[in-house]
Amino acid sequence: MKYEFKDGLEFAKELDKLDKLHNTRDRFYLNEGEIYMDGNSLGLSSKDAEESLLNIFNVWRTEGIKIWGVEDGRYFNFSKNLAEKLKNLINADANEIIVMGSTTSNIHQGLATFYKPTKERYKIIVDELNFPTDIYAVKSMLNLKGYKIEDALIEIKSRDGRTICEEDIMSKMADDVVLILLPSVLYRSAQLLDMELITSEAHKHGIVVGWDLCHSIGSVPHDFKKIDPDFAVWCSYKYLNAGPGATAGMYINRKHFNKSTGLRGWFGSKDESQFLMSHDFDQDKDANGWLLGTHNMFSMAPLDGVLNIFNEVGMESIRTKSLHITAYLMYLIDNKLSKYGYSIGNPREDHRRGGHVCLEHDEAYRISLALRDNNVIPDYREPNVIRLAPIALYTSYEEVYNLVEILERIVKDKEFENYSLKRVTVL
Ligand SMILES: *Cc1c(COP(=O)(O)O)cnc(C)c1O
Repeated sequence: MKYEFKDGLEFAKELDKLDKLHNTRDRFYLNEGEIYMDGNSLGLSSKDAEESLLNIFNVWRTEGIKIWGVEDGRYFNFSKNLAEKLKNLINADANEIIVMGSTTSNIHQGLATFYKPTKERYKIIVDELNFPTDIYAVKSMLNLKGYKIEDALIEIKSRDGRTICEEDIMSKMADDVVLILLPSVLYRSAQLLDMELITSEAHKHGIVVGWDLCHSIGSVPHDFKKIDPDFAVWCSYKYLNAGPGATAGMYINRKHFNKSTGLRGWFGSKDESQFLMSHDFDQDKDANGWLLGTHNMFSMAPLDGVLNIFNEVGMESIRTKSLHITAYLMYLIDNKLSKYGYSIGNPREDHRRGGHVCLEHDEAYRISLALRDNNVIPDYREPNVIRLAPIALYTSYEEVYNLVEILERIVKDKEFENYSLKRVTVL
C-alpha cells in the first residue's frame, strides 16, 4: 500500500489523533519518558494482565484445591478457555488450539507427533535464518531417531543473508522429505513468508508443515482455515504481551485429531477418564489430546487478561496500525537517517513483512548502547541489526518520531563513539 507521510513532530501528533488504537495504550504500563521498542522480544505488561493474575492468585488463596472446580471448571479447563480467546487470532477452531509449555517444548511435541520417517522418506526442511531453538529441537529429534544431520536435515540457504526465497524452499520439496518447520516471520529481517503457498506446495508432495508463529502471533492475522497447516506453535510473551515465560500455544489441524500424540501426559486424557488413573492412555478427541501436565496457572493468567484487548480490538485493526506505523518509521529512516549510514533490512512490501523494522548500521552495537542511555529500549542482533518494533497496541507516532531524532543525533554528533565495542551483555 502507498502511504502518505510528512516530516515533523506536528504531523506525528496528527497521526496520534487519527489513531483508532491510541486509547489501548492507556491499558499498558509504559515507563514515563521511555520509548519501548522491544515489544517483539518481550511485550509490556497491562492492567488486564495484572488483574487476571491477581484474580487467580486470590482464587487459589480462598479455594485451595477447589480452584479446579470453581466457575464450572473454568480453571481446570483453562487451556480450553484460552483457546476460545486465541481462535480469532489465527482463524482456527478453539478445539484445534492448546496452551501449554514453551515454544521449544511444543516444537518437540509437534516433531514427536509428525516426524514419522521411513527408509525412503526421512528428511526435514528448515531454513538457515531460523531461531536457534527450533533448529536444536529438529536436530535432537533426528539424533533420537538415529539419523545423521548432514544426511537428514535440509537447511534452506538465504541468498542475501536476510531473507529466504519461497522458490528455494519449494525446490527442495521432494519425495524424501517428511516434514517442514519454518517461521512465519523471520526474527531478524521481519520477512513474512508466503505461508499459504508453501503449505499447499508441501501438501502436494505429502509433506507435513509446521509453522512457528513466534514473530507473527498478535501482530499479523493468520487464516488457518485457508493456509491449512498441519501444526503450529508460538510463544505468548512477544506481541501477545503475556509476560516473561508466559505459557506458549500450539495448533493441531483437526484432520490429525485421530493421530496418536507423540508425547503423552495425563492432561491429554479425555476428561471423563483422566481421574480413573488407568495406565492406558485414553487420548482426548481433539487438540486437547496433545496436552501434557497440569496447567501453569500463573503463567497463563496474564494471557487470559490481555487477550481481551486483542478480541475487543480485532487483529485486522492491529495489523492495519502495525503496517502504518512501521511504514511511518521506514519513511523517516529513508528521509532523515540514510545519510548517516542507516539502512532498512526488512522487505518493503506490506504482504512480505511482519511487525518490526530491521534497521542496519555498521555501528549498530554501539548505537544500541547509546539508545539505552537516551531512554530508548531497542533490541540488538549480531552483527549489525537494531530491531525496532512500534507496537500497534501501545506505541505512539510521536514516540516513533522522537526515536528517529535520537537515532539521528547519536550518529550525527558521534555519541556512539563514547561506547566500547566490547560486547558486554545480550541486548
Ligand atoms: C522467541 C522464539 C522462540 C522462543 O522459544 P521459547 O521456547 O519460547 O523460549 C522460538 N522460536 C522462535 C522463532 C522465536 O522467535
